[in-house]
Amino acid sequence: MTLQASPFAVALPSLSPARPGRFHRRAIVRARVEPSEKSVEIMRKFSEQYARRSGTYFCTDKAVTSVVIKGLADHKDSLGAPLCPCRHYDDKAAEVSQGFWNCPCVPMRERKECHCMLFLTPENDFAGTDQTISLDEIQEATANM
Ligand code: SF4
Repeated sequence: MTLQASPFAVALPSLSPARPGRFHRRAIVRARVEPSEKSVEIMRKFSEQYARRSGTYFCTDKAVTSVVIKGLADHKDSLGAPLCPCRHYDDKAAEVSQGFWNCPCVPMRERKECHCMLFLTPENDFAGTDQTISLDEIQEATANM
């Protein structure tokens, strides 16, 4: 995992010394974590295949699709599974082992309900006409986030 600009931020301690020979108190700084390109590509392909299989479409605003795909990739890197990136969890590892919110989550599999707006049914007002998205589209859409 590399540290770059992305919408996925984590808190990291600063190790900058305040005075010579002494480390400054652990100030928390915001750093941005970029998921690996390999995981983004895996989740991109998965999203295309699952959209086709489920008869759903990506959002007219591909930035939405891109952010969700990167969020899934980030969880794949950090947790080993594509836990839904649009929810808060007290214990992510426990959620992964339960499987309910691993993408495609149970609401999606059972009722085609994707609250992340990654997979939209044709009647959804935000549904586009695409079931494909390129790696370049994802990187461009999230470049300034
Ligand atoms: Fe995947 Fe479900 Fe999250 Fe949609 S809501 S991105 S289907 S886990």
